[in-house]
This record gives sequence, structure tokens and C-alpha cells, in this order.
Amino acid sequence: MNHQNMVEYIKEGLLNFIFPLDCKICEKPIRESKGYSICEDCFKTIELIEQPYCIKCGKPLISTDYFKSNRGILCSNCKRKKYSFEFSRSVGIYQKVLKECIHLFKYYGEKKLAKPLGKLMINYLLKNNEFKKKIDLIIPVPLHKNDFKKRGFNQSVLLGRVIGDYFSIPVGKRVLIKKKLTPFQVNLSKKEREKNIIKAFAVERPEEVKYKNILILDDIFTTGSTVEECAKELTKAQAKNIFVLTLARSV
Ligand SMILES: [Zn+2]
Ligand SMILES: [Zn+2]
Repeated sequence: MNHQNMVEYIKEGLLNFIFPLDCKICEKPIRESKGYSICEDCFKTIELIEQPYCIKCGKPLISTDYFKSNRGILCSNCKRKKYSFEFSRSVGIYQKVLKECIHLFKYYGEKKLAKPLGKLMINYLLKNNEFKKKIDLIIPVPLHKNDFKKRGFNQSVLLGRVIGDYFSIPVGKRVLIKKKLTPFQVNLSKKEREKNIIKAFAVERPEEVKYKNILILDDIFTTGSTVEECAKELTKAQAKNIFVLTLARSV
């Protein structure tokens, strides 16, 4: 343990002693603080999305016998739509503990959650054979510089670092930028979201993208319009294959 880590460790231990953290889900005191307010037991309840899901966008499908025996299924949206990425997958459904974790991570600055959440994504990548194709570069969905200033960090970059470190894959910083400030997406309709996000991104370093297999990383897949806009720009910059992984999928 280096000096910096030691100071952190002692600080956290002291804080936890003076103000013991209660788990935000089960409200039991957290015995050994890791710097975030979800206990191990609650974290373990996060379930990974399993098949059947749409082979394109990864949307979980209701497990009927038909879907169980037909693996190459598209959801109703993907039958009509064309995407610039090969496929998109999400680790879990945006609900319960995972939703709470993402809120604490993004909006309450519990940056230390990047580690267990990133680990969840690593486990998903290890389990899912579809990603066995080589990924050359991870590109986290960028924030607009004003949003970055407000939040102080980009949650997708933090997750990207955990994953990149584990697999020894470089994480592209400032390869893709968000040039357009878009309004807070949560309360907008699907149509409005799609309209707002159009041409919001630009590739700043096309030479780093050319002929590469890229994994776009984001926290939540809602309509898919954000990752699609990123994929579009990366395609223009001659990326080879583009895959998408998000921590959560809102359904
Ligand atoms: Zn708990
Ligand atoms: Zn789909």
C-alpha cells in the first residue's frame, strides 16, 4: 500500500467509525466501508441479463419456448431500424439495486462504485462469448465539457478504466467528443431524445479509430440513440467493427 492509499484507508476508516454508513438499500450498517453506501449483500442481488434477448440491441425478451429455440431473434424495434454498430449488450436491467448504484455513482459522486460496477461489466464480458472477438479500443461515451465541469468526472470513463486495466485494452480519451450540449434526457420522449442527440458527437482523432474494433461504453441504454450517434461518427472515421456495452438497460 503506498502512502496515498494509506492516507485514504485511514481517512475512510475514521469516517466510518465516526459516521458509520448505512446501506442505502437494506439500511443495515456497512461494517467495512469501501467508500460507497451499498452493502455487499445487496450488491450481490444484481442479476445479469441472460438470453433470450434481441441479437441486435440486447433488449431482454420474455422467455417463451419460441425464443428459447430461436436464438437469432430481433425485437420489434430492430426489425425496422438499422444501427451503425454490430450489436449492443447490457449487463443488467435498470431497476432496484443497479438503478440505485447508478444514481449514487452519477449524481451523488460515489466514484468508488466504479470498481464493483466495472467488475460487473468485466464478468459479463468474460461470460459472453460474443465478445471473444478482439476489441482494440474502448471508447466511453463522452460528456459535453460543461456537463463534465458540473459533475467533475465522466462515469463511463471511470468504468472504462476499470475494464481497460483488466483486459489491457487502451481507453480512448478525447478520441470522440461531445460537441453539442443536449438537455437532460430523462424527461424527454423517445422522439425528442433522438432529435436532440443528432450530430452531438464528433471524432477528434480519426487516426486512432481507423480500422479498429471498438467497444463503446455507456452507463445506460435507453433508446439507443446516444450510442448510435457515437457509432455513426466512428463509422465515418472508418472504424472496423463497433460493439456496445452498457451497464444497464432501461426497459
Ligand atoms: Zn444492503
Ligand atoms: Zn432490438
